[in-house]
Amino acid sequence: MPKPIKSCADMPKIKGCEVTECAYNIEKNCHAIAITVGNSQAARCDTFYKHSKGGIKGLNGGVGACKMDSCKFNTDLECFAAQGINVSINSGEAICATFSPR
Ligand code: SF4
Repeated sequence: MPKPIKSCADMPKIKGCEVTECAYNIEKNCHAIAITVGNSQAARCDTFYKHSKGGIKGLNGGVGACKMDSCKFNTDLECFAAQGINVSINSGEAICATFSPR
């Protein structure tokens, strides 16, 4: 049974992100308020954006939504990875490294 999430403050955090070219990445940490993970093919970070730097300094990003319902941490298209997630680079793409098939 996943730990209940009662507010946005409870959403799983992004522990680290290797995608340094992303606008939201500062020193391998994500500074978007919340990311969306997944599309129909893979557990990609859908929030990845190549642009001048953005995000909120000092804020540790969380997982706002995840469309990978094939992941064991996913319930009702939300992420319940209690320990947080890591994002890495796989074949040139930003991929949730915590994705784990059921
Ligand atoms: S988790 Fe996604 S939005 Fe955040 S820095 Fe990494 S690629 Fe960018």
